[in-house]
Amino acid sequence: MSNSNIKGSCQCGGASYESTADPVFSAHCHCNHCKKTTGAGHLSAICVPQQSFTLQGKTTIFETTGDSGNVIQRHFCPTCGSNIFIANEALELVFVMAGTLEDVEVFKPELEVFCMHKASWDQTNPELQSFDKMPD
Ligand SMILES: [Zn+2]
Ligand SMILES: [Zn+2]
Repeated sequence: MSNSNIKGSCQCGGASYESTADPVFSAHCHCNHCKKTTGAGHLSAICVPQQSFTLQGKTTIFETTGDSGNVIQRHFCPTCGSNIFIANEALELVFVMAGTLEDVEVFKPELEVFCMHKASWDQTNPELQSFDKMPD
């Protein structure tokens, strides 16, 4: 049984997920990979421990290498194309796309990362803690 409300699915419902843990943190990412992934100004994600995360259904994986040198896996639905989550196996973390949540209000953004790549037209809450890159 899950105490958290971190559950959701892709647009067609072919892939769904759940996390039994509370978020480690919640953030907007402005890096260029995330802009390509979302097709928008930034990606919004809830970070949870990999061991708390379960996936049902099939995803297709696109791998990219982050600034840290870690390879990360971007999981999307092969049917509807929704980006669902990103796995960082080196850090054993999963970043769940906030827009795929059953209840999107579960996402409470705390910080913004890779603001050095932020688009001038992408306005977010100026009160959020912001970082040029990824904080340690
Ligand atoms: Zn789908
Ligand atoms: Zn990013």
